[in-house]
Amino acid sequence: MKRLFLAAAVLVTVAAVFLWSQLPPKQQALSSTFSDGTVAGVVHVHSSRSDGRDTPEHIAHDAARAGLKFIIITDHGDGTRTPDPPVYREGVLCIDGTEISTRDGHYIAVDMPASPYPLGGDARDVVEDVKRLGGFGIVAHPDSPKPELAWKAWNAPFDAMEILNLDTMWRRRVAEGWRGKAFLQTRLLTYPFRPVESIASLVLPSTAMGQWDGVARRRHVVMIAGADAHAQIAWRASDPISAALAIPIPSYESLFRTSSIRVRPERALTGDAKTDAAIVVRALRAGHLYVAVDGVATPPAFELTATNGLGTVRMGDQLDVDGPVTLRVRSNAPDNFTTTIWNGTTAVIAGKHEKDFTVMLPSGPGVYWAEVRPEGKRADTPWITTNPIYVRASEPLPSAPPPSPVTEAVPLFDGRTTTNWQIFHDATSVGAVDIGTSDSGDGVLRLRFGLATGPVASQFVALGVETRGGVAAYDRLSFTARAQQAMRMSVQMQTGQSRWERSVYVDVFNQSHTIFFDEFRQLEGNPAAAPNLADVQRILFVVDTTNAKPGTLGRVWITAPQLQK
Ligand SMILES: [Zn+2]
Ligand SMILES: [Zn+2]
Repeated sequence: MKRLFLAAAVLVTVAAVFLWSQLPPKQQALSSTFSDGTVAGVVHVHSSRSDGRDTPEHIAHDAARAGLKFIIITDHGDGTRTPDPPVYREGVLCIDGTEISTRDGHYIAVDMPASPYPLGGDARDVVEDVKRLGGFGIVAHPDSPKPELAWKAWNAPFDAMEILNLDTMWRRRVAEGWRGKAFLQTRLLTYPFRPVESIASLVLPSTAMGQWDGVARRRHVVMIAGADAHAQIAWRASDPISAALAIPIPSYESLFRTSSIRVRPERALTGDAKTDAAIVVRALRAGHLYVAVDGVATPPAFELTATNGLGTVRMGDQLDVDGPVTLRVRSNAPDNFTTTIWNGTTAVIAGKHEKDFTVMLPSGPGVYWAEVRPEGKRADTPWITTNPIYVRASEPLPSAPPPSPVTEAVPLFDGRTTTNWQIFHDATSVGAVDIGTSDSGDGVLRLRFGLATGPVASQFVALGVETRGGVAAYDRLSFTARAQQAMRMSVQMQTGQSRWERSVYVDVFNQSHTIFFDEFRQLEGNPAAAPNLADVQRILFVVDTTNAKPGTLGRVWITAPQLQK
């Protein structure tokens, strides 16, 4: 008995010593040597409205405890829900956004009214819709190791991207194999003792910096962090996760204490939720912010400015090329932390220990940003990551060459009859086509559709035309369209085996559309696989549940559909 007790005591001691040796370093408490004028907040939070654990009220309570000034809740959705108006809860400004699933990854929309139709399908189209609706769009977890969560639409004109997503961090560790999994398991053991430090120790630099650089060279793109806080994790599930299998860590509060964005508003917050939300969102749009991993050291103070002959600007801003540029960095970084100045993905200067220094950079364009990391064991952890200052040539970048002029066109519609046209629909939806007249007296194809009500199944109504021998002699499809209510219509090319798609936004007034065949993407199988144009049997104008709710009734008028080259 005594022996058993002794053995148990030894075991417990060994376990405790092991645990102690594995504890991540304690968060460093910093004195703020100066104020950088920023407010702390967290973006990308899930509530119980989608797959998060708690209500927005409870989340705000946790945010208040973590010292945040604002949170942006982004439950999964299709953009058709009217967002809650901004509100202060326990001193925390709560802004309501949404996270939209696209075929090419997840896209967060903030500062956007309800969409008249569900947003989904290709990311390029969702990005376009969010922009048209006036929203601010953030690419979520672009570097997720889960293929369906990683971003694939790098040419889409998104506004911002997450360079840090806390949810992606544990997924990346799992994807690393046994070493990463073992590290993650150790962190699960240390979490109860040092939750914030345990999560912070999982943070790695983004693997999407190359793609970010490709975009930032051409245009403004905001670097931001997303907590992707659910306050639960489920080992096997993805995003959205199944709450039934989930364990309730990491908590909202610990995630909020681990990492934040520090936003510099153009003026002090007023206490009025609507006004302050506008101020915060304006600063987000401008990229007037940096990302901090507070779990390493907090509270941070950081400033990056650039000066040349034209003046001085701050992070997120642009400076025209005009002689050498002087970058100035000010921070309250601990002594054993170093600052690196990057131009895109190239380090311009590294290993700076000074808390206040300037760097002289040669004249010419550059995308300059700063990063601060601890030295030693934690050198992988980016403590501070700033938005860049863009130094641009004052002449605009060469724009894409205009499309080649149309040299040949064949009409798909004779302006009088629907003989070549056919309606297709699923068993329960209804559709019809007839001939209308445009204001100029031309014949117009009028498609009437009614998607069946009930849950989303495969409701669709399509208006199709035979191509008679493929479309290989042409390179594009053009038509003019308007709709009863603003909508997104899918235009498809069909071969014997497969369909290719490009969706277009159709407004309530006539607009002409041209879709080049190389813009179509395959719906089944590899999206990038090109169709054999000689095999295209039919062209279809489709309304389906990707961008229409079950039960939607409507009309679309299509004028002068043509194959062109
Ligand atoms: Zn997501
Ligand atoms: Zn999310």
